Amino acid sequence: MTALDRLPLREELRGAVPYGAPQLDVPVQLNTNENPYPPGEAVVADIAAAAAAAARSLNRYPDRDAVALRADLAAYLSGDGDVALGVENLWAANGSNEVMQQVLLAFGGPGRTALSFAPTYSMYPEYARDTHTGWVTEPRTADFAIGRAAALTALAAHRPSVVLLASPNNPTGTVLPLADIEAICEAAPGVVVVDEAYAEFRRSGTPSALTLLPRYRHLVVTRTMSKAFALAGGRLGYLAADPTVVDALRIVRLPYHLSAVSQAVARVALAHADELLARVDELRAERDATVAWLRAQGLRAADSDANFVLFGTFPTTPGAPDAHAVWQRLLDRGVLIRETGPQGWLRVSIGTAEEMAAFRQALTEVTR
Ligand SMILES: *Cc1c(COP(=O)(O)O)cnc(C)c1O
Repeated sequence: MTALDRLPLREELRGAVPYGAPQLDVPVQLNTNENPYPPGEAVVADIAAAAAAAARSLNRYPDRDAVALRADLAAYLSGDGDVALGVENLWAANGSNEVMQQVLLAFGGPGRTALSFAPTYSMYPEYARDTHTGWVTEPRTADFAIGRAAALTALAAHRPSVVLLASPNNPTGTVLPLADIEAICEAAPGVVVVDEAYAEFRRSGTPSALTLLPRYRHLVVTRTMSKAFALAGGRLGYLAADPTVVDALRIVRLPYHLSAVSQAVARVALAHADELLARVDELRAERDATVAWLRAQGLRAADSDANFVLFGTFPTTPGAPDAHAVWQRLLDRGVLIRETGPQGWLRVSIGTAEEMAAFRQALTEVTR
C-alpha cells in the first residue's frame, strides 16, 4: 500500500498518474508543440510594463468577467472579416484546457456522456473523468478522418451531451472538413466543441468552424494563445460561442479564476499579435518540408495543418527499432519528440530550421 492509497482518493483516480510530457533539459525540444521563438525585446518590455501596472492594484481582485480582454479577443477573431463576434461571445480562462474543463463542468456530469473520435487529444478523457462524465470514443478512419455515417451512428447510440472535435487534431495534425462538423452539429443533441488550438497553422483555404457559429447555438470553438501565439507560459485560452453558452460557463467558473496579471499580459500579447504570429508562415513552410522529407525517407507522415507532424510507422519486426526505440535513440542524440500513439507512430513538433535539421540528422542515424 502506498501513502496515496491510504488517502480517501476517489476510486477512479486510484493508479492514475498526472498528465504531462516529460520536461527534459535537452538541446532540441520538439515534444509539446510550442512556438520555438520567444517574444522579442519590445514585446517583453511592454509585458513587463503591463505587469507592473497590474501590480499597483494587486491588493484588489481582478475583473471577474475579464471584459477588456474578452473584447480584445473578439476583435482579434473578427479581424480577418470572416466572423463578427462581440465580448458577449467570448470567454477566457487559464489555457483552453481550463475552458474545456468548464464546458464539461457545465454540460457534462453524472449520467451524461462525452464523445470524441480517436486518436485524439489525451486530455479529453481526463476532463470527463474529473467531472464524472461518461467517456466514449469512436475510431477514426485509416487516414484519421471521421466517417460521417459512423459519427451519426455514434451520436444516435450515445446521445452525448458534449462532443469534442479537435481540428486540426492532436496528435494527427489533420483537419475536419466543415461539412463533417456541420453534419455533427445538425445531429448532436448537446454541445459540440471544436478545439482549434492550432487554427493559426492551417494551410490556406482551410476554413475555421468560427464561420458556423451564427448557425449553431450549441457550437463552441476553443482557441489558445499557447501555440501559434508563442504564449504557452502565459496560460491563456478562450472560446467563442453563443452568449448563452458563456452565461452557463460563468456559473461554474471559480470566482476570479483569471489573474489580473494574466489578463494584462494577454492583452499586451494581443496588441502585438502581428509580431508574435510573425513566424507562423515560416513554421508552416518548415512543417510542409518536414512532411515531404519524411515521405522521401519511405516513412508515412499524416497531412498536417498544425505545427507538428505524426509520422511512422515503426513496426515491431525483429531487428528493426520500434517506435519507442526510435524515440529513445533520438533522445540519446539530444532530440526530444513525443510518443503519443497510435501504436507505431511518433509526433514531432516543428521547431527552428536548426532544430529540424538536428531532428533529420538524428532520425537518419537512428533508422539507417
Ligand atoms: C495544446 C493543446 C491545447 C491547448 O492547451 P492550453 O491549455 O491552451 O495550453 C488544446 N487542445 C489541444 C488539442 C492541444 O494540443
